[in-house]
Amino acid sequence: MSNNILVIAEQHGGVLNPATAKTVACARQIEHQTLDLAVFAADAAPAEHAAKLEGVGKVIWLADAGYAHPTAVGLEGRILALAQGYTHILAPATSFGRDVLPRVAAKLDVPQISEIVAVESARIFKRPIYAGNALITVQAPPGIVVGTVRANAFKPVTESGAACIEKHETAPDQPEHTRFVSLVGGSGDRPDLQAAARVLAGGRGVGTQAGFADIFKLADAMGAAVGASRAAVDAGFVPNDLQIGQTSKIIAPDLYIAFGISGAFQHLAGIKDAGVIVAVNTDPNAPIFEVADIGLVADLFEVIPQLEQALSNRAG
Ligand SMILES: Cc1cc2nc3c(=O)[nH]c(=O)nc-3n(C[C@H](O)[C@H](O)[C@H](O)COP(=O)(O)OP(=O)(O)OC[C@H]3O[C@@H](n4cnc5c(N)ncnc54)[C@H](O)[C@@H]3O)c2cc1C
Repeated sequence: MSNNILVIAEQHGGVLNPATAKTVACARQIEHQTLDLAVFAADAAPAEHAAKLEGVGKVIWLADAGYAHPTAVGLEGRILALAQGYTHILAPATSFGRDVLPRVAAKLDVPQISEIVAVESARIFKRPIYAGNALITVQAPPGIVVGTVRANAFKPVTESGAACIEKHETAPDQPEHTRFVSLVGGSGDRPDLQAAARVLAGGRGVGTQAGFADIFKLADAMGAAVGASRAAVDAGFVPNDLQIGQTSKIIAPDLYIAFGISGAFQHLAGIKDAGVIVAVNTDPNAPIFEVADIGLVADLFEVIPQLEQALSNRAG
């Protein structure tokens, strides 16, 4: 058992992404001697949070104001420097991990194992293929194992740990051709789409950007995140970072409500792990009804105000 695992933590605005605790859960299933976590952050808060994650031996906190908005290209060199001595480098398969880890794998000259959903052994993993319709078992070739972890496939570790924090004052490795300009978030203060327990999603049937305003209002009343189909994103109703599906975000909320979404398989690939699926669609033959636990053949513009009313009656 000579495996040494390094998990790259994800943080935004000083808050550790919950996908990190799930990536640690995956790492713990790999036989190992050490399991360390690298946190690139301007503040101590995410490193302190990471130190509580059960099973983590040591937190390596790379501290610099530049890590408030790290770029993949700025992290790559630092991760490669840390890689020496580790047999595995893992990161969550979020936009963050999908962005930075392939660069690391390429530089280490190993193939990346993407979207790990199960650990068979230290070098053998399961991952989905064909839009999540099949699982493949893959074996990592000799060399460092570099993999992204599909967070929804693992339960987060508890926060009962007390790892030591090793602080390194290291600035991002920022080349001149790439720099952080600004971050435009489409969902404001709402829960993160990939971590939310409830998601309301809209499709082409919502019709306009203004139509989505009603979904956002209902989501706020329910403490839910908002997502969208690709058709809704392509039509410009909502920003691209809200897209759910095969070529975008994979989500696993307890409750998922689809308004005016037909249920194309590329969209369904993103909601396979959702708990209760509710569909509201005017077309009784829409494919979404085949996967829905609760289907409502109805006009979303009538249903949304009714749901809002029902919620405010309950609250009152
Ligand atoms: C390579 C590739 C990758 C793709 N990746 C993705 C992906 O990641 N995510 C994704 O979502 N799609 C993806 N797509 C696109 C996908 O194939 C579908 O085109 C898309 O999901 C359809 O979006 P939709 O359901 O909103 O629109 P539509 O299929 O047009 O469905 C709109 C639905 O709204 C209903 N409706 C209309 N008016 C109302 C109303 N007033 N009330 C209630 N219901 C109403 C209609 O009956 C219809 O069922 C991908 C496609 C390709 C080729």
